[in-house]
Amino acid sequence: MKLPRYVKTQPALLRYLPTFKNSGGNNVFPFIFLRKDLYNDLLTDKPQPKSIAALLHEETHRQRQISSGWFLWSLKYVLFPSFRFMEELEAYKATMSVLKKNKVPFDTEKVSKHLSGPLYLWSTSYARAKLSLEKAWNET
Ligand SMILES: [Zn+2]
Repeated sequence: MKLPRYVKTQPALLRYLPTFKNSGGNNVFPFIFLRKDLYNDLLTDKPQPKSIAALLHEETHRQRQISSGWFLWSLKYVLFPSFRFMEELEAYKATMSVLKKNKVPFDTEKVSKHLSGPLYLWSTSYARAKLSLEKAWNET
């Protein structure tokens, strides 16, 4: 598929950030940086659901950054764990919609660990993350 110009492969420096290794993408407004394997897969005629899901996750962040203003969004994302968690939940709903449609499982346990751990600066408790993600998955 054809990708918008703001979607790029990860620069070497970002490759070593733990968020990158785990999420497959990062949003450095106005760009979306994707892991090279996902990016290359998206350029093929039949990209894998996982690659499309990663792109949609970052696209959701990007759209929400645009609608609330990038600076304000980033400030709130850094300062408020509950905001950070809700934004991730919204982005993961986008991830889930692609995975579920293609019958690909979503690892709520792994993502809950990430969201409640250092990777997302302890955005919420493990229990809340797990409950919210399971609810979202069931409602997808
Ligand atoms: Zn995210």
